[in-house]
Amino acid sequence: MVSVVVDYLRHIESDCVVNNVGELADYIPELAAVDPDRFAVSVAVHDGHVYSIGDSSLEFTIQSISKALTYALALSLRGVETVDAHIGVEPSGEAFNEISVDARTRNPKNPMINAGAITAAALLLAPGDEDGTTDVGDVDEAFRTILDFYSGCAGRRLSLDDAVYRSETASGSRNRAIAYMLESYGVMPADPEDAVDLYFRQCSVRVTTDDLAVIGSTLANGGINPRTGRRMLDQVVVRRVLSVMTTCGMYDGAGDWVTSVGLPAKSGVGGGILAVLPGQLGIGVYSPRLDEHGNSVRGVRACRHLSADLGLHMFNVARESRVTIRSTYDGHELEVGTDRSTVEQVYLRAHRDRIRVLELQGDLTFSGTESVVRRVESIRADSEVIIVELRRVGIIDEVSRRMLIGLRRSLREDGKEWVIVDPDGILVGMDRRSRERLPANPSEAAITSTMAEAVEVAEDVLLKQAANRG
Ligand code: GLU
Repeated sequence: MVSVVVDYLRHIESDCVVNNVGELADYIPELAAVDPDRFAVSVAVHDGHVYSIGDSSLEFTIQSISKALTYALALSLRGVETVDAHIGVEPSGEAFNEISVDARTRNPKNPMINAGAITAAALLLAPGDEDGTTDVGDVDEAFRTILDFYSGCAGRRLSLDDAVYRSETASGSRNRAIAYMLESYGVMPADPEDAVDLYFRQCSVRVTTDDLAVIGSTLANGGINPRTGRRMLDQVVVRRVLSVMTTCGMYDGAGDWVTSVGLPAKSGVGGGILAVLPGQLGIGVYSPRLDEHGNSVRGVRACRHLSADLGLHMFNVARESRVTIRSTYDGHELEVGTDRSTVEQVYLRAHRDRIRVLELQGDLTFSGTESVVRRVESIRADSEVIIVELRRVGIIDEVSRRMLIGLRRSLREDGKEWVIVDPDGILVGMDRRSRERLPANPSEAAITSTMAEAVEVAEDVLLKQAANRG
């Protein structure tokens, strides 16, 4: 059985893969030689469950996405004050590798352009506190710290792509120029050669879209990796990193990105994009053809789709969307109707656990509905009828409506039934559409206004199945 969420991602894939616009990064041979047609999308939801389609286990280099992570690490190890004394937080509106700094402070304008990213790496190399507790050491040690941190956020051991690292080093004149310029201004906190070396290594870490999605969900989750339960970052640091990703993450296309996609994100010339919906989910996308800004063409398109189709823009305001499943129980907690015959009552009492009830609350948007769909999928094998109670649900957005319809279809294909308790008719769209297909048989009338009616329908289904079995 294919999850309705994966179905959605496939739909996005089929729309994106027909697009062959854009060019591979060609400043090093390794990037110029990748297969331009590869494509993958992964979405990691609040508990770390990952949905993916396409080449989601294909590794590529993280490149500039590393800037957000190393900035986070520098904030954690050096403290916000120290980092702020070296790197600004203003969007530059310039190309990522522009050789420019703030006119007054001479500091790099933000950590997402190369000057700021090289400085963040340099801060890891600078001597730590007087007591030495935050000393990271030389480039090898600092890189080990970086790799441990990235791996902890991804929930698996990541590794360095040696060939890419060597090529970055061999062709890195511009980044060296930036580092030396910063040194000449007196704002480079470490040896410029060491700083760029560390920066080249961090750019050459291999990741998959599944990794990016889990890293994103670690940020979405306030710094705790939802798969491992390990705290990787402080909430204050996460807030800072997501803010800077929002204003400066997508190279010089940031304004358009915030307006149309509305997710803090960072892209890399390797073709990856990491996006985050705070409090809810992380997204990883890969496709190596790039637009004029250096962002993955299909990746941007996929993110636009995800945001629009799944209602993910961070400024979509939903009430109480976090706790969607209020309670779940089986039919033992429900009274058996007394107007049944004694034989029926005995049968129903013995089979009440085949009825499951999910009571929902809040507004139903993608993330909450996704958890409902997954819960139903996990209990479907052990139930015949699932009652979903919507009495406390305020509104239901279009994607949730469609997900519920998809879920119902797949339950029916499996010979299962479900009943929706919807006293206020919030599922009207679905109601109207589905009623047309409903036979007159009351046991198939899947939408009721009270729980008592729903239980009756569920009991009818159980009794009918018993009768059919003879
Ligand atoms: N290693 C690349 C550079 O600094 C990364 C560029 C990017 O992904 O934007 O030139």
